[in-house]
Amino acid sequence: MPLPPYLRPYQKRHLEDITSGKATCNSAELVNRDGDLWIHLFVKYEVDKPHYQPKTIIGVDLGVSKLATVSALSKDAVSNVNFFDGSGLRFKRKCYKRSLSEWQSNGNDAMVRRSKGKISNLSTYLNHCISKEIVSLAEQFPNPVIVMEKLTHIRKRNLGKRMNYELNSWSFAQLQGFIEYKAMEKGIRIEYVGAKHTSHRCSNCGHLNKSNRKDQAHFKCLGCGYEVNADFNASVNIAKVFREGAPSQPIGLGG
Ligand SMILES: [Zn+2]
Repeated sequence: MPLPPYLRPYQKRHLEDITSGKATCNSAELVNRDGDLWIHLFVKYEVDKPHYQPKTIIGVDLGVSKLATVSALSKDAVSNVNFFDGSGLRFKRKCYKRSLSEWQSNGNDAMVRRSKGKISNLSTYLNHCISKEIVSLAEQFPNPVIVMEKLTHIRKRNLGKRMNYELNSWSFAQLQGFIEYKAMEKGIRIEYVGAKHTSHRCSNCGHLNKSNRKDQAHFKCLGCGYEVNADFNASVNIAKVFREGAPSQPIGLGG
């Protein structure tokens, strides 16, 4: 089969890595997308797990109102905060979903198949964009470690029926997987914490109270009065849980 005439830079790079032996490719998938044939190559890289001492902890909170909130904890100060909401793409996705239910009730199977593919492509595309940005943000800091919550903990949060539906359908597992492999490619450490109460604990004074979280977006501490975006508060807590939970590997936050 001839190679496609146009290769994107990353596709070219992966193909070169396969021919030079830097990467291996043991499987491929041929896909028929609206009459065009696409081949997906599964490229495998062997990387060593990095073991350096982190100087910056990148706390990543995955949520619904903001798909991802990232804060960078260096020394004792939070030096950078970023929100990734993907609102434009989410709107598109909603439109597809609405059409999908219409086509389903009309029995238009061809359109149902097409739009199902489009919905999952949009989520995947969005997850690629967000993970890429998070990893390049981490790269800006010396010795970063990206810390996320274990997925089981995210799922256990009771966010109401509608929220839980969105939470699962946005496939956080895929987003975490993308962040993980993109970070490993760059030699960046990835760690998971089984964080408890990240959304109800005050990241400023540590006070824990369910009423601290006023609603989905606002956090106000009943202990010290600290008022901040709720997702930001959670992302700092995730970073702090990692820092405090790893006394066996003291981290050089002084440098
Ligand atoms: Zn507080």
